[in-house]
Formats: sequence, C-alpha cells, structure tokens
Amino acid sequence: MIVIFFGPPGAGKGTQCQILEEKLGIPQLSTGDMLRTAVASGTPVGRKAETLMKEGKLVPDELVIAIIANRIAVPDCAKGFMLDGFPRTVAQAEALEAMLAEQKLAVDKVIAFEVDEEELLERIIKRGKEAGAAKRADDNPEVFRKRMADYRAQTAPVLSYYKKKGIVVTIDGMHDIPIVTAQIEGALIPEKNQS
Ligand code: AMP
Repeated sequence: MIVIFFGPPGAGKGTQCQILEEKLGIPQLSTGDMLRTAVASGTPVGRKAETLMKEGKLVPDELVIAIIANRIAVPDCAKGFMLDGFPRTVAQAEALEAMLAEQKLAVDKVIAFEVDEEELLERIIKRGKEAGAAKRADDNPEVFRKRMADYRAQTAPVLSYYKKKGIVVTIDGMHDIPIVTAQIEGALIPEKNQS
C-alpha cells in the first residue's frame, strides 16, 4: 500500500505516520527528516538544502525526487510506504507517478489533513518550545508564515491533482491524536468501515 500524508506544516502528518508504521508494517518516508539528516552530516545535498530550509523555502524538485527514488528502491519499501512531506509540488507528483509506473505501481490513497491555520501556528510554537536544543531552525512564527505561503501557492495544487484521480480521503486533523489515528485507519482499512 502506497499512501501519501498530505497537509500543511504542523498538521500532524509525521506524528500519525510514526504511530501507523507499526500498525501497518510499512515505513514512513519523510523528505524533511531525510533532508535534516543530510544537513546534519554536511553532505552535498545537505549543503544545498540548508539555507532554503532555514528560510522555510522548498528545496529544488530534482533534489527531493532523487532522494525519494533512492529511498523507495530499498527493500523495506517492497510492501509499500507512507510518504510524509512529499510530493509538495505538481512536478514532484508527476515524477512520483512516473517512477511508480515503471514498477507497475501507483499511489493508493492520499490522506489529506485539514487543520485551522491558527491551530497550526500554536502547534509550531509548542513544538519549538518542547524541542529544546533539538529545535528545528524552521519552527518559529516568521518561517511558519513563509512555509504556509509556499504551501498555498505550490503544494495545495497537488491535492487537486490527486482529487482528479479520486483517491483523496479528508481527515479532520483538529481532533486528539488517537482520534485522528482511528480516522486514518478507517480510511485505509476498508473492513474497519464495515464493523
Ligand atoms: P518538513 O519536515 O516536511 O516540514 O520539511 C522541512 C523542510 O524541508 C521544508 O520546509 C522544505 O524546505 C524541505 N522539504 C521537505 N520536503 C520537501 C519537498 N517534498 N519538496 C521541497 N522541499 C521539501
């Protein structure tokens, strides 16, 4: 099963992917996490991404597409995977479709998180405070606004791309974590809907 977790920064995509990794037995592929690891290790990719990430800007499509292409070739992705933070542009969505088609695969579901912008900002501020020394360079109100602007301009059109395919399930991300998890499980496991 190939699932995309889609939504604005702070919507809870990463949290839900981590919970569901064990339940579904498929890995979370977070381009944000992979890029942060590259930045921390000072790889050429990391050096290219660092400033853009600090400023809340998207890194170039070619770079994240290459990262994902390499990652989905790893055997732990054979049964499927959850994409967290990718694709973030229509060009990335098209590249994903092409790379999956080569293996006769396709995205099965897109879980779209809906959360009020006020709530998102509060969550980002909270996440920044709780992280202490591990605080992300982009978890602050100024950079959050930039990330939201990019989200509206470049990432929101990705949802229309998948809506046309009829594979989007919208989730109310304002609820508590376990309730959101249950909504996602209900969307991914059809039997659960019948009981
Ligand atoms: P995230 O952890 O998903 O919030 O991502 C953190 C930052 O990494 C983003 O603000 C971007 O700068 C960069 N990034 C992560 N995924 C992508 C992507 N699919 N396309 C472009 N930039 C990305």
